[in-house]
Amino acid sequence: MKSNKALFTLLLFFIVLFTSSCGLLQDLEVQLQQNNGQEAGLLEVHFIDVGQGDAIWIKAPQDQNILIDAGGNRYGDKVVEYLSNHGVANLSAVIGTHPHEDHIGGLDRVIDHFAVEKVYMPKVLHNTKTFEDVLDAVDRKGLKISTAQAGVSLNLQGVDASFLAPVSEKYKELNNYSAVLRLQYGSQVFLFMGDAEELSESEMLGAYPQTKLKASVLKVGHHGSKTSTGDEWLKAVDPKYAVILCGKDNSYGHPHKEIMEKLEEKGIEIYRTDEDGTVVFRSDGKTISVK
Ligand SMILES: [Zn+2]
Ligand SMILES: [Zn+2]
Repeated sequence: MKSNKALFTLLLFFIVLFTSSCGLLQDLEVQLQQNNGQEAGLLEVHFIDVGQGDAIWIKAPQDQNILIDAGGNRYGDKVVEYLSNHGVANLSAVIGTHPHEDHIGGLDRVIDHFAVEKVYMPKVLHNTKTFEDVLDAVDRKGLKISTAQAGVSLNLQGVDASFLAPVSEKYKELNNYSAVLRLQYGSQVFLFMGDAEELSESEMLGAYPQTKLKASVLKVGHHGSKTSTGDEWLKAVDPKYAVILCGKDNSYGHPHKEIMEKLEEKGIEIYRTDEDGTVVFRSDGKTISVK
């Protein structure tokens, strides 16, 4: 009886040893895949302070760069300088979430300045000089605009990046055309909402399982306006961190009190560019740090 127990303990010991070493091997394999050709294997997401507007630089773990929006017209040079100071020369993808000036205003400067592989924008026209300027810059580079819409994936190494929205083809409100990007690195997910409002949120809630919407970091839609971040949406995304890009004392009153209260109630860690300046997230695919 006693030796049976000893035998059982020994067996258990080997089972535990075997399974844990399998796990170790798996971890090692993942690590090797992630580090293939690159040492650090870190994802960086920079929410650049461009006053009342959006500009987000993503440095993928294999040194590929993505830019989502470039702030208003007067921030184009600041975005170019920020990227240059961080050693960026190539952009694998430039995304103009939607044609409002506070998002695409600086894009012409960016496209003129860097080697750009692809430009993504939703399929909607806008009759402004700012919009024309972006089209002209794309033309000058001999590029074509790729349509940003639900189901389109960016071809990146080591991370999974795809658009969840726009789901439909026609909207009344320009904000709802916003290209919403889902970026996954290991177990960490970022959702970049542009100015998508509740209509787009409800379409995504209907189009995807909750597992696809759950994220660690939510770039809050429309600068924290109460037209976005509905209860159902926030429940589904269930983020640990929320980032709000907005200008100090902006005339829209962004972020709206209702949204701040909603986020605080859920214990979500909030960062906002009007108070914190540029906010940088780093992730190894397992954990996230903020600076
Ligand atoms: Zn905006
Ligand atoms: Zn907008």
